Amino acid sequence: MTSRITFEQHPHPSPRPSADRDAVLAAPGFGRHFTDHMVTIDWSTEHGWHNARVEPYAPFAMDPANMTLHYGQAIFEGLKAYAQPDRTAALFRPEANARRFQRSARRLAMPELPVETFIEACELLVRHDEAWVPHGAEQALYLRPFMFAAENTLGVRPAAAYRFMVIATPAGAYFSGGVNPVSVWVSEQYVRAAPGGTGAAKCAGNYAASLIAQAEAADHGCDQVVWLDARERRWIEEVGVMNLCFVYGSGGDATIVTPQLTDTLLAGVTRDSLLTIADELGYRTCETRISLQDWQSGCANGSISEVFACGTAAVITPVGQAKTSGAGWTVGDGRPGPVSLRLRDALLRRQTGLEADLHGWLHPCV
Ligand SMILES: *Cc1c(COP(=O)(O)O)cnc(C)c1O
Repeated sequence: MTSRITFEQHPHPSPRPSADRDAVLAAPGFGRHFTDHMVTIDWSTEHGWHNARVEPYAPFAMDPANMTLHYGQAIFEGLKAYAQPDRTAALFRPEANARRFQRSARRLAMPELPVETFIEACELLVRHDEAWVPHGAEQALYLRPFMFAAENTLGVRPAAAYRFMVIATPAGAYFSGGVNPVSVWVSEQYVRAAPGGTGAAKCAGNYAASLIAQAEAADHGCDQVVWLDARERRWIEEVGVMNLCFVYGSGGDATIVTPQLTDTLLAGVTRDSLLTIADELGYRTCETRISLQDWQSGCANGSISEVFACGTAAVITPVGQAKTSGAGWTVGDGRPGPVSLRLRDALLRRQTGLEADLHGWLHPCV
């Protein structure tokens, strides 16, 4: 028997006037403006998941001894609701995010939110804030589900209480004025994840630990950092907070190659969706190990024609230049390649309902 949780619904008594909202939606940026509502569900060892509600977006007080502030039990997700041709909104593959959220929770010794509750929370927020779903090209409503410890003590152990929340922020076109390639810095000093660590979990601490390397990349004039494996500093893992794909060959003969999933890689929903779409478009796909040396020599001898990063925020970001402490090279001609752009367009068309939803990836929120 499944006991479905019931959400109390407290619509905002005075939501943002439409003129204000339209001004935000005209140039939303990313993560700067939040919608009128938020979802909260509490968990305790005594009551399990309880007190589920949708209510006006508002700050809340936190005890200085809140365990999250000290020991960092904090995980999150990121997914988007896309406006569909019939003006409704649909979430893209929310069950994939819900399952990953459960895996992240398990790794951080936190309680697992049932998949259907995660999806319902996201769906409810989109429904309450439907007016915030932007309709412009490449725009979407970005949802940020997250969970953190809600117990106040300095004892080191898993907390006995947690809070799950979902907030939403309209996201503008990541590339205004055309898709621009990024340059990447291969960090040989810092690692993002180590075997047995938390690399496969979407947890706040991974991000905290990555910021210094991102700063190092910027110091070397690069946009993003490329992560190598912790053991040998030889194998390519990810770029920034995105997965990485290499295009070998070109045209219809192209093969999309991406690092195979291990416990040091974050299993991106975009990565998975692109592998499926690439296959449908007739490209070969391959999940394997790729070394830094393979990347450099593949670009030198022309066997690698394109490289791109992928993730929910930007879908596909072409990589134009790579740099290490001792070398630098250009990928292809340094411009966005045809395979990257075709895959990007194909995925966006699925997400926005312009192409048949062959796999039940769209979750309507009406
Ligand atoms: C979220 C994330 C990704 C991309 O995942 P998507 O589900 O495609 O958005 C890749 N790498 C890291 C480290 C991430 O945190």
